[in-house]
Amino acid sequence: MHAQRLDRARARMAEVGVDVLLLSVGADLPYLTGYTAMPLERLTMLVLPRDGDAVLVVPRLEAPRVVEQPGVFSVRPWDETDDPIALVAGLVGAAGVAAIGDRTWARFLVDLQAVARVGSWRKASEVMTALRARKDDAEMAALRHASGLADKVAAQLHAGEIPLVGRTELDVSQDISRRLVAEGHAKVNFAIVAAGENAASPHHDAGGRVIKAGEMVLCDFGGTMPDGYCSDITRCVWTGGEPPAQVREFYGVLQDAQAAAVAAAVIGTPCEEVDGVARKLISDGGYGEWFMHRTGHGIGLEEHEDPYIVSGNHELLAPGHAFSVEPGIYIPGLTGARIEDILIAADGGPEVLNHVTHDLVVVDA
Ligand code: ZN
Ligand code: ZN
Ligand code: ZN
Repeated sequence: MHAQRLDRARARMAEVGVDVLLLSVGADLPYLTGYTAMPLERLTMLVLPRDGDAVLVVPRLEAPRVVEQPGVFSVRPWDETDDPIALVAGLVGAAGVAAIGDRTWARFLVDLQAVARVGSWRKASEVMTALRARKDDAEMAALRHASGLADKVAAQLHAGEIPLVGRTELDVSQDISRRLVAEGHAKVNFAIVAAGENAASPHHDAGGRVIKAGEMVLCDFGGTMPDGYCSDITRCVWTGGEPPAQVREFYGVLQDAQAAAVAAAVIGTPCEEVDGVARKLISDGGYGEWFMHRTGHGIGLEEHEDPYIVSGNHELLAPGHAFSVEPGIYIPGLTGARIEDILIAADGGPEVLNHVTHDLVVVDA
């Protein structure tokens, strides 16, 4: 698998005119090698020449964590008194164009620029984004699995198994986080819990606000699985009693907009059109000014990655694109709501990975 991915990376380097690819921290490195670099002051760097053997330069004390893949890449450990910048520069040799990982620490790039014989520098995303945006079969299976586990926690929320009224947002956020891990996530990336008027802030930080009966609770949570792939889901619940007509009204508009955007996410459709479908329905419903973020983001080894479902992104949806569709309506001072599913663009139409109801479920908890 990694050999194939390195071949695809080399082909892409030829396409975009890159002679050597340099990857450090971030998701590009594990995508190509299976190895995740620790974000340390000690340099880890994959040197991948377009024509030549790949070498993973790692601190000696990290080397035992590397699963070597003979014929795919070799490992070159460096000792505490070695100069890893000189080591990488030596492996690079004379290169016209080097592309360096977008998340690489600036200090390493600055040091490399001083000594490496490189004509010009570009971002590795120019090589890697197109590869990583379209998921292969194993990646799609991983995303389905992660979404299924996030679904379980959302279902517990809907079933009233997660107590809400009388608890703080932070308490509920920690409860959701524990459940994500209990279901199999290796780590939690976020668990937004926003009650009442706080739900009007899309990325509200769960805090000391106590949840009351008869209000909206917006929950947006996701984590990373042991295999590196992410989940991300948003559902809203109403805490007891019948929601006011105004809430039913705007939630209905949101639900229709989300469903229409999902249905529009067919192969060959520009990403921005999926955003446009959601935005038009919300605007027609009279809530346009209160939907102020893009409709979605790609997901994979990173919680947010390409393709972005946003106005101005003319990229056409292609098989294997995995992304969220998550419009929201946020009415300042009142409340807000968002509905989010993860989708995969497929030949038979969009495959929705989250199966929990989109309805505004009333929970008496
Ligand atoms: Zn978000
Ligand atoms: Zn989310
Ligand atoms: Zn999301």
